[in-house]
Amino acid sequence: MAGPTLLKESGPREVFCGLTSIVWLHRRMPDAFFLVVGSRTCAHLIQSAAGVMIFAEPRFGTAILSERDLAGLADAHDELDRVCKELLQRRPEIRTLFLVGSCPSEVIKLDLARAAERLNEELSGRVRVVNYSGSGIETTFTQGEDGALAALVPLLPASDERQLLLVGTLADAVEDRQMHLFKRMGIETIHSLPPRQSTDLPGVGAGTTVLLTQPFLTETARLLSNRGATVLTAPFPLGAEGSRRWMEAAADDFHLPNERVAAVLDPLMKRAESALARHRAVLEGKRIFLLPESQLELPLARFLQRECGMELVEVGTPYLNREQMAAELALLPDDVPVMEGQHVEQQLDRVRASQPDLVVCGMGLANPLEAEGIATKWSIELVFSPIHGIDQAGDLAELFSRPLHRRQLIRPGLHPSNPDTPVHA
Ligand code: SF4
Repeated sequence: MAGPTLLKESGPREVFCGLTSIVWLHRRMPDAFFLVVGSRTCAHLIQSAAGVMIFAEPRFGTAILSERDLAGLADAHDELDRVCKELLQRRPEIRTLFLVGSCPSEVIKLDLARAAERLNEELSGRVRVVNYSGSGIETTFTQGEDGALAALVPLLPASDERQLLLVGTLADAVEDRQMHLFKRMGIETIHSLPPRQSTDLPGVGAGTTVLLTQPFLTETARLLSNRGATVLTAPFPLGAEGSRRWMEAAADDFHLPNERVAAVLDPLMKRAESALARHRAVLEGKRIFLLPESQLELPLARFLQRECGMELVEVGTPYLNREQMAAELALLPDDVPVMEGQHVEQQLDRVRASQPDLVVCGMGLANPLEAEGIATKWSIELVFSPIHGIDQAGDLAELFSRPLHRRQLIRPGLHPSNPDTPVHA
């Protein structure tokens, strides 16, 4: 059968847990606080992932389960109530408190949903308390955002207004730009989830068309469609082609005239084409292997193959929602292996055997692979950089051309013609 070859693999994994998504979610909603209920391991993870941000009065923290909690000597619910109340007293500006479940809180079956309900009753009107899980047992990396947004869906007011709802966190500047373009195309009312203020929740109902900005929002999309919204299936807005098709999907749904849409998008496509040319010159014909991490891998692979001329060796993804990814799968070349899940040892064997020009992987594997002579691109950067939209296509390509370019620059140092000459003269 034509189309990519869909495969599955399980075994040891090298991925983040869903807690990591707090790092970008808390920046998006400055009036929200994310309280992880977990262990010291969870606190260490967030601190390492957030880096220097931990010094800037962050809006996240960890309620660390102590041995007394784990041994059942203390009533964990009383403790949690006490910690939450202290926190809210110290930080009166918090409007939404997310109680984030972790592996330890799940294993001891701490009922955070009930805790959120109880705190909501007590704090009614002042702070809203919601709960979701970011544990490594249940979630991989960006799936944490899916959990957080899904937890907000029941709080959205009902509305029959005809509107476009952009779902998924985008960099503010990128989102402003997309909204501006949609308005120029003729869509009047546009909202986003998550909103920039956690209390500013958009309405949802039969008049709502949902356009997902990110591919990892399976549960959120399901809940929004249960509330009457129409969820579009389209390629994701990575690269010029994907972004155009993504915007056109919304334009079709709003019955906008083709000429008006083309008048807005054609000049952007021209600019993107020339921005891409420089990077295409570096990337064309190079072989790339993507390891699973964020679920952005399929749209990225599609962009790199179709717009930058790269050859795909293997496309890994931690989770594949075939329905939501149908448009992406249709654009991938025939017979490309798309691997859902991971057995990291076997995957690394395939990397070594195929000797690709570039590997997209997490930080745990990047330096070791570089030391073996294989060029890498850290995948986490793709989650934090503004890469969505037609205007960003050149910048997105640069993220991949840069490591190859750097390799070229340092090649004389790595392979000196006279081995006696020190590399750092
Ligand atoms: S939630 Fe689980 S995987 Fe994530 S840091 Fe805590 S213990 Fe580790």
